[in-house]
Amino acid sequence: MNRSFAGRAALWIGAYLFVVLAPLFALLLGDHPPARDFWTEFADAIAYAGLSIIGLQFGLTARFRFITQPWGEDVIYYFHRQLTWVALALVLAHPAILIWVRPARIAALNVFAAGWRVKYANFSIYALVALTALSYGRKRIGLSYEAWHATHIVLALLAVGFGLAHAIAFGFYLQSPLKSGLWVSLVIVWIGVLVYTRIVRPYFFLRRPYRVEAVRRERGDSVTLALQADGHDGLSFAPGQFAWLSTVTPLQITGHPFSFASSADVHGRIELTIRNLGDFTAALGSIRIGRRVWLDGPYGAFTMDEADDPPVLIAGGIGITPMMSMLRTMADRSDRRRILLIYANRNWEDVTFREELEALETRLDLEVVHVLEEPPPDWTGERGRLSLKTLKRCVRAPFVERNYFICGPEPMMDAAEAALAELGVPISRYHSERYSFA
Ligand SMILES: Cc1cc2nc3c(=O)[nH]c(=O)nc-3n(C[C@H](O)[C@H](O)[C@H](O)COP(=O)(O)OP(=O)(O)OC[C@H]3O[C@@H](n4cnc5c(N)ncnc54)[C@H](O)[C@@H]3O)c2cc1C
Repeated sequence: MNRSFAGRAALWIGAYLFVVLAPLFALLLGDHPPARDFWTEFADAIAYAGLSIIGLQFGLTARFRFITQPWGEDVIYYFHRQLTWVALALVLAHPAILIWVRPARIAALNVFAAGWRVKYANFSIYALVALTALSYGRKRIGLSYEAWHATHIVLALLAVGFGLAHAIAFGFYLQSPLKSGLWVSLVIVWIGVLVYTRIVRPYFFLRRPYRVEAVRRERGDSVTLALQADGHDGLSFAPGQFAWLSTVTPLQITGHPFSFASSADVHGRIELTIRNLGDFTAALGSIRIGRRVWLDGPYGAFTMDEADDPPVLIAGGIGITPMMSMLRTMADRSDRRRILLIYANRNWEDVTFREELEALETRLDLEVVHVLEEPPPDWTGERGRLSLKTLKRCVRAPFVERNYFICGPEPMMDAAEAALAELGVPISRYHSERYSFA
């Protein structure tokens, strides 16, 4: 890890911890009730910390660029998922410790018999448990991404709302109007962030629509949508970044993320290449030419800079799209860096952009190595799944001096990252874009 990356990471984590813990320590300022036994105080402290973490989850997923840098959205969403476990553990430990200190408190678990202030706590915990269970079991129970996303937001609001109601109703630390005011304001800010992300900001995108100018069929059950900015200059992006696409209205709760596939040097016209993987992507194949759509972007830190020389691109399946944007932009800029693209696919017929990559090999100092899982009988190239052996055969040593960009299906990305770690490549030299946030 280079020093500036480590420094920014430490700053980011320090800022996060400060924002989580500051409201907790604010409770200790000024007058406060006489201290109780250590474990009761501890149980309360972790409940406040849990509530603070849940509230900040709204900020983590609010698509603020100053928050997602230097990590990239996929890392932030990973962090968001892991933090849900931490919040859940803290919030569950709160009643567990209180009952352990005084076993008679077990009666509080009977939500019908308990008083309102305890009921609030029960509701908050149920909402958080349901939210976590649905996030991890969504695919197993066949819940669509859109339905899950809407439920997720409602459950998060319930968890925070009832959690705060419980803290205020109990009143121990929030007796002073100043302190309860502080926590109520915090919750208003968290909910305000949600309203801003889902309603206010999308409203501005209404005035920046795109029109579907062309739909091209591509190899590998994919289509390219060419989108023309309608009445504005269009957004600028760096090759490797992505945007959230909405086809009905930017005000819908769930947009779908897609990498820009076109050159960053073409202004006003953007191409997205999309593989048919579900209901939304299937419908894009028959989208009407001229239809209005909206893009919220650019996002992401999966970008190459001039210092990344010589780059190695490792793509699997539709993970080729950000690489195409990089290669097309390099061609437009007459960038003569030596580039290696290792491109893994199931079979030869499904290699998206196969012909264009051949053409790009003549315009750039580009070498494309195809890795096929089910190659045709006369295939003499790389076969099987991408592995350490593939990298050793394709990448010229010293491995540690190159910069790697990886995008593709999860198993391929795990294999590529494990292989690079085994080759001793430092983590600061490889960059990954994962196509699953949820
Ligand atoms: C940063 C990023 C860039 C991407 N770029 C491309 C690209 O260039 N080309 C391409 O074909 N695909 C890309 N994807 C994947 C694409 O977003 C999903 O395949 C698409 O949203 C699936 O929607 P669906 O309704 O058709 O399928 P579903 O069956 O609903 O979803 C399939 C899976 O895709 C994921 N997904 C679905 N909807 C969303 C959403 N709104 N937000 C996040 N994840 C979702 C979920 O994990 C889901 O299980 C990208 C994903 C990410 C995170």
